[in-house]
Amino acid sequence: MKDLGRLCLDGLHPEIIDILPNPVLVKDEQLRYVLVNTAFEDLHNVRREDLIGRLDTEVFVDRQAVQCNAGDLRVLQSGEIDEAYETVWCSASGPRETITRKSRLTLTDGRVFLVGIMHDITDVTCINRQLKESQDLLQHQAEALERMANTDPLTGCSNRRAFLKQAPPAFATHNNKGGVLILDIDHFKKINDTYGHDAGDAILVQLTQTIRQILRNSDDIVRLGGEEFAIVLPGASVGNLSLKAEAIRQLIESTPMYYADQTIAVTVSIGVAIAQSESGVINLDRLLTEGDHCLYEAKNKGRNCVVDTLPA
Ligand code: GH3
Ligand code: MG
Ligand code: MG
Repeated sequence: MKDLGRLCLDGLHPEIIDILPNPVLVKDEQLRYVLVNTAFEDLHNVRREDLIGRLDTEVFVDRQAVQCNAGDLRVLQSGEIDEAYETVWCSASGPRETITRKSRLTLTDGRVFLVGIMHDITDVTCINRQLKESQDLLQHQAEALERMANTDPLTGCSNRRAFLKQAPPAFATHNNKGGVLILDIDHFKKINDTYGHDAGDAILVQLTQTIRQILRNSDDIVRLGGEEFAIVLPGASVGNLSLKAEAIRQLIESTPMYYADQTIAVTVSIGVAIAQSESGVINLDRLLTEGDHCLYEAKNKGRNCVVDTLPA
């Protein structure tokens, strides 16, 4: 068998390729091995005596061998260089990721061979994979940080920072129509004083969960601070803003809240502000100030009520 290689490649000095560190293979036009070097033997854990004169499919009984044959045929027919990726199981060092650069070699006497030079790219692949994993992790952490920076940790609601960033585009997708409800818990200090600070915290959480039940996906609850919230309603019609505010007020009034085994009655006052755009952008300061004024009036009117400045 060894002689067949020498015979076919007479004049090519096959032993020269034995000193190359890269695995090298040569096949004839029928895709039978005519020559491999020591590095190829080591990588595939096969002796050249068992390889020469044989097809891939006769020696390597797996799907990769079939794919390999198809690729080899393309190279022989077209003369174009091909690069094939393959995982080779090396008995000494486990799975190795390889790329084989294959080209057609035509000798002066007309004989045609396929020459393949393999490169072990396991380390590069491994580094790339680690790089990708690190990038994914960083991206994940950046997203988590961004979420944290935008979220009130107690209630999970958006915070003022998120509101300032997210409200303008949210309104913009609704032609800058809609508005906000500025909502404040009535006598919250008294709730804290009576039931304790933890009870106050529990109320804040239950309140936002209750309100969320009647909001649309495009609506948002923002904790502006303490027990004051902005309910952002992009696209809501002027009439619906007041209706929604009243619905929320009634819902809170009629929903008992709990801390430990105690039931706590909660009411809220709400100020309604309509979004108005200036040069195509909502003026958030004005919106919040208008809502605050209405809320202040609601408190003055005796609390547990809604005040708006909507056209009658
Ligand atoms: P009003 O009806 O006029 O709004 O009265 P109020 O008692 O609700 O308002 P006030 O501003 O006098 O008190 C608000 C209280 O909210 C005081 C503060 O300790 C409490 N508070 C602010 N943030 C938190 C919080 O995160 N958790 C708890 N439990 N209490 C808070
Ligand atoms: Mg209050
Ligand atoms: Mg307040």
